[in-house]
Amino acid sequence: MELSIIVPCFNEEQVIRTTNRRLFDEISKITSDFEILYVNDGSSDATYGILCSLHEEDTRAKVINLSRNFGHQIAVSAGLDNAEGNAVVIIDADLQDPPHLIAAMVDLWRAGSQVVYGRRIKRSGETWFKLATAHWFYSVLNKLSDVFIPQDVGDFRLLDRRAVLALRAMPERNRFLRGMASWVGFRQTALDYHRDPRFAGETKYPLRRMVRLAGDGILSFSVVPLRVSIWIGLCAAALSMVGIFYALVLRLLTNVWVEGFTLLFVSQLFIGGVQLVFLGVVGEYIGRIFAEVKNRPLYIVAETRGIEESLQNAVF
Ligand code: UDP
Ligand code: MG
Repeated sequence: MELSIIVPCFNEEQVIRTTNRRLFDEISKITSDFEILYVNDGSSDATYGILCSLHEEDTRAKVINLSRNFGHQIAVSAGLDNAEGNAVVIIDADLQDPPHLIAAMVDLWRAGSQVVYGRRIKRSGETWFKLATAHWFYSVLNKLSDVFIPQDVGDFRLLDRRAVLALRAMPERNRFLRGMASWVGFRQTALDYHRDPRFAGETKYPLRRMVRLAGDGILSFSVVPLRVSIWIGLCAAALSMVGIFYALVLRLLTNVWVEGFTLLFVSQLFIGGVQLVFLGVVGEYIGRIFAEVKNRPLYIVAETRGIEESLQNAVF
């Protein structure tokens, strides 16, 4: 198989037929040896039924039905685990990532790139708030993490089979795929594009989920938040040494006692607050260790269409 396309779908009944037609049109121009892998991420609308009928119409459209909503990153991972193509493209179901770019990605891949990531130079139909916070997030993330994670890059990308195998070997639960895809290395190329507004339906990434994704990005790619606590602790300690020295000198050389109930109170609050915050940061990391240690499967497949069921992720 030359090309696999992974499409995560969560309540996309309004767009999925159009998306399917566009994908078939565009990919048929590139090769006839392809599959389109729809991962239904626990949709509560008619999405799954539509996907099954797409498979009836053309068996190159295949369906993985997850047992509940596991989230975008895990749905894509389920697709990666089952994709057979020598090149794998990840694309959103809502036509925000234009399917005609897949041809350009495949050209770059044939010319030797192993990872081709789409870089959004322009995004229409997003609020200024989303754009600003996303931009700010990527620059903070890059300052904090050891691997370079390109700015304004989403999950729309092409991965060579080798990169896919590398990603499959990364079992972490709190997944931040765009970071993981940078981490694996290989010859990476950017492809600039203009991100369109959603074709229909509404975003499945409300602020709460964006914050969670951002947290996963930072906490899985950096231990700087832990280090910050050491520096703040050292600063507070240094400050208190100055205070102690000052009080001692006054007491020994003059007759003055340093008083200052307010100072005592304020500094207690400060230290207490800082300690609680960093207890929380440490707790976040421990929570992630806990999730890893439980070693649960990443996702549960309920049923599939057109895919040979591997026992790897089946329920026993
Ligand atoms: N998605 C998913 N599971 C989820 C949330 C989203 O599979 O829990 C899919 C969704 O169907 C879409 C893609 O992930 O194909 C991106 O979601 P969306 O377009 O809502 O995000 P946005 O583009 O607004 O960031
Ligand atoms: Mg979208």
